[in-house]
Amino acid sequence: MGLFDVHAHVTHPKLAPRADEVLANARAAGLTSVLVNGLNPHDNAAVQALASRDPIVKPCYGLYPVDAVLGEMEAMGVDYPRDCPAFTREEGVAWVRDHVEEAFAVGEIGLDGYWVPEALWAPQEEAFRALVAIAMEADKAIIIHTRKRERRALEILEEMGATKVDWHCFGGRVKLARRIAEAGHWLSIPANARRNEAFTRMLQTLPREKVLLETDCPYLGPDKDAVNEPANVAVTAAYAAELWGCPVEEVEAQLAANFEALFGVAP
Ligand SMILES: [Zn+2]
Repeated sequence: MGLFDVHAHVTHPKLAPRADEVLANARAAGLTSVLVNGLNPHDNAAVQALASRDPIVKPCYGLYPVDAVLGEMEAMGVDYPRDCPAFTREEGVAWVRDHVEEAFAVGEIGLDGYWVPEALWAPQEEAFRALVAIAMEADKAIIIHTRKRERRALEILEEMGATKVDWHCFGGRVKLARRIAEAGHWLSIPANARRNEAFTRMLQTLPREKVLLETDCPYLGPDKDAVNEPANVAVTAAYAAELWGCPVEEVEAQLAANFEALFGVAP
């Protein structure tokens, strides 16, 4: 049994230069798995390289819902910071399809209506559906990012019959989070839970067998101004133990069982 982080960005420029130290810190904090999520073909390749260097890294390949329409966004003059060579949506989907067998899970993928204008929601959905189908066909779990389009993402996932799903850093209503858990999906709570009312309520009211932990590092740490890293899932596990009124060992056992239920292997 061990702790885990189901959503980390160790390939992010803020963490990549000291990735070895970050992963050593994760081990020291009791983690046995760090699911590093890719955002696009370039980032997926970096995740792949990191995973080949250190077995604690479980590679997840995806296409971030903003990156899925990045070319169109640029053409429309919408400003979004992504510092990598250009790629098309088709290349983004194809990269995941070509490497899905070696992926631990497919992610992050989803729908984003915060950055992405409504005119591009149709092509964004098209890429999302293609990626969900790729994951389901390969029997891989899916890690979802969605912002402002939570209900639509759930509609599509239910319509397609996807059941092995984790919703990362869920920002919708807590009531909808409970509905998602009722649908059989999991929700991963980030390391800033103690200073976030919605994540606190989710830890208090979601069925415990549907809760996972993540960091979304380098963002969303327990300390707002510090660079977050996977080791901080231990902070959330301790917080869950307070909220659940049980020893942290019991929380870790529950979380490990949840991880295995979703991914089919122990963390
Ligand atoms: Zn992410």
